[in-house]
Amino acid sequence: MIRFPNIIKARVELLHGCFKEPFLDHGYKGNYSGVYPIKVNQQKHLVQELVHFGKNLNLGLECGSKPELLVVLALMNTPNALIICNGFKDVEYIETAILAQKLGRNTIIVVDRKEELHLVIQAAKKFNARPKIGFRAKLNTQGSGKWVDSSGARSKFGLTSVEIVEGIETLIKEDLLECLELLHFHIGSQVPSISSIKSSLKEGARFYTELCAMGAQLKYIDVGGGLGVDYDGTGNSDSSINYSEQEYANDVVSTLQALCDEKGVPHPNIVTESGRALVAHHSVLIFNILGVNDLHRQEPPRPAIKGDPTIMQDMQYIFEKVNKDNIFECFNDLTQSKQDALQLFTYGVLSLPHRAWCESMYFSVATKMFKIASQLPDADDIRAQLSQELCDTYFCNFSVFQSVPDSWAVGQLFPVMPIHRLNEQPRREATLADLTCDSDGKIEKFIDTETGTYRRTTNIHEFREGEQYFMGAFLTGAYQEILGDLHNLFGDTDAVHVSLSDAGYTIDHYVPGDTVTEVLSYVQYGRAEMIDSVRQATEESIQAGSITKQEAKLLIKHYEEGLSGYTYLEEADT
Ligand SMILES: *Cc1c(COP(=O)(O)O)cnc(C)c1O
Repeated sequence: MIRFPNIIKARVELLHGCFKEPFLDHGYKGNYSGVYPIKVNQQKHLVQELVHFGKNLNLGLECGSKPELLVVLALMNTPNALIICNGFKDVEYIETAILAQKLGRNTIIVVDRKEELHLVIQAAKKFNARPKIGFRAKLNTQGSGKWVDSSGARSKFGLTSVEIVEGIETLIKEDLLECLELLHFHIGSQVPSISSIKSSLKEGARFYTELCAMGAQLKYIDVGGGLGVDYDGTGNSDSSINYSEQEYANDVVSTLQALCDEKGVPHPNIVTESGRALVAHHSVLIFNILGVNDLHRQEPPRPAIKGDPTIMQDMQYIFEKVNKDNIFECFNDLTQSKQDALQLFTYGVLSLPHRAWCESMYFSVATKMFKIASQLPDADDIRAQLSQELCDTYFCNFSVFQSVPDSWAVGQLFPVMPIHRLNEQPRREATLADLTCDSDGKIEKFIDTETGTYRRTTNIHEFREGEQYFMGAFLTGAYQEILGDLHNLFGDTDAVHVSLSDAGYTIDHYVPGDTVTEVLSYVQYGRAEMIDSVRQATEESIQAGSITKQEAKLLIKHYEEGLSGYTYLEEADT
């Protein structure tokens, strides 16, 4: 994994700049601050970089859980920068947030469930504090895209309008209304369409003006995340967006301004919680190809001869006779022969060598047919079917579940492509298979900018045995690292932070990936115990004479080295 801090800096500045522009153009009277929700990627060096680059731009942090709050308190001391406390809270979470205010940290406790308000009031009394409080509104407007369930009446978070009205009454009763500083809503991540964003803003802005009408003196409106990333470049899919960052900012500002002016309430300071849009671009996963399963077969097997099973004679005939005039008929015959061959084998009629011949011949005919079909305008169907059957599988030294889990979990598209030999046309059609023993561990959906949907294969160069071949999976900086799991015990990859300057590049950090021992400790295996158990087995085998002392020593050495090593495939020492 290579991370590029320069990209983080550029993204932080871009988003900030996008909001500055409409502020100046339209005389918006509030301020803008971004907060980065650390759940998107909590890696220490990354969050430190964000805090560093955001220092002069008032970038704050958002936490969605108690552990995240603890991270944020330790990591950020930018004066005045906001710390937005979201998520479900217990007494400890709330008390920590309130006490942190006494350290001068700008924590705002956002009430996500109505019960939390009472906990906040209790804690305020206990510490004689005036906590900064926010309300998260449950909007009726739904977002769009893959995370559409994050909003709407049945969504998990936020206060309904009834709960908000009751909450205001409670705050008035407790003489805490002036503590209510922020209104928050969030309609889900990766919103593909600007119209969903606009509708939710209108509803959110109405909550804001109504709260003002009820006497609240809100300082902030926090419009959440949702700003999408154009993963596939199409502008019209769930892995894309139909707006720019600037359009997003313009719409946020102008919608709020219009509704506030209409109701004669002051313009609030605007807070955004864009996470994906800040960090997705900054990292790329590089992996090498280990080998290829290549089904193309230019050379047919030995010709079928008299005395061979009829099915073989039939397939030989198709191979010799197929041409552009009879391709449709031959394609049907070929499909039938394939099925017949398998049945005959199961019934005990066809021997294993004969079945192997049929399989080889099948791919020879398919390869020949594919070439003919590629020249025929009306043979699209045949071409599509054959290309799927004939495509190569490239075996890749990574785990989909660890490094691009959203590709598997939600069908998210990521740009995946070779990173060298780029002056050579990639002529092979391939799918990518990972190291796990899971048939879902593969990438079979690739960006197709022409149709705006996806392709089942990607173009890749011919693999040359003995030569390194690397590919990159791009835009993997948001969510993938922390959602990634240990399927088959493949751990975190090595990561480096590379900065570019006029003088060249520097490696700011090297973060070694998990060792086998580390990964095993997550599932309660202890290194010493494991080594001892294998050592005891070697003692017994030495006694029994089935292994020599030297061999036993070598086995223990390999075992210990394996435990200290990387979980992914390594090059053999030469
Ligand atoms: C996840 C989350 C975000 C970040 O959303 P992105 O779409 O990644 O910007 C912001 N706010 C809240 C409350 C969230 O849960």
